[in-house]
Amino acid sequence: MTKQDLLKTTLKNRKQRMTAQRELILRVFMESNGKLLSADDVFMEIRKKRNHRTSKMTVKRSIDLLVELGMLKEINFENDIPKYEYLKNRQIKENAVFVCESCHSAEAFEISAKDLEQLLHNHISDIEVKEVSIKITGYCAKCKKELSDSTEEINEENVK
Ligand SMILES: [Zn+2]
Repeated sequence: MTKQDLLKTTLKNRKQRMTAQRELILRVFMESNGKLLSADDVFMEIRKKRNHRTSKMTVKRSIDLLVELGMLKEINFENDIPKYEYLKNRQIKENAVFVCESCHSAEAFEISAKDLEQLLHNHISDIEVKEVSIKITGYCAKCKKELSDSTEEINEENVK
């Protein structure tokens, strides 16, 4: 049974019609390569790239249902809009997220409790890490390159 089939069956059991909308949302997440997406990101992806008519409310409602079904996980970081992660095999491994300050893309990855314990050991001794939740902000590779390219251009202008 594929994930799509599983979702369909679950939805059927709940007497809810499987709409093209929900399949589309799920596909957006499947193709995001582990990136965390906000409801707005999903909406924009469907609207712009796939030229599919929808509303933000419908997208939000469908995402909420997918969270309920365990297909997506809602990730909340302080002072940030909720983002969603597609749960491969329904396992939650990623506990750290990198958010680019420039393009606002986000990427989830895993930091083990053991690794963090070792890192922190110089600052906090005798700790036992149980749960890790880290938000790292900065510039992604693409934006970092764009920034350094524009700095170089300014420098070149100064030389002339
Ligand atoms: Zn970026």
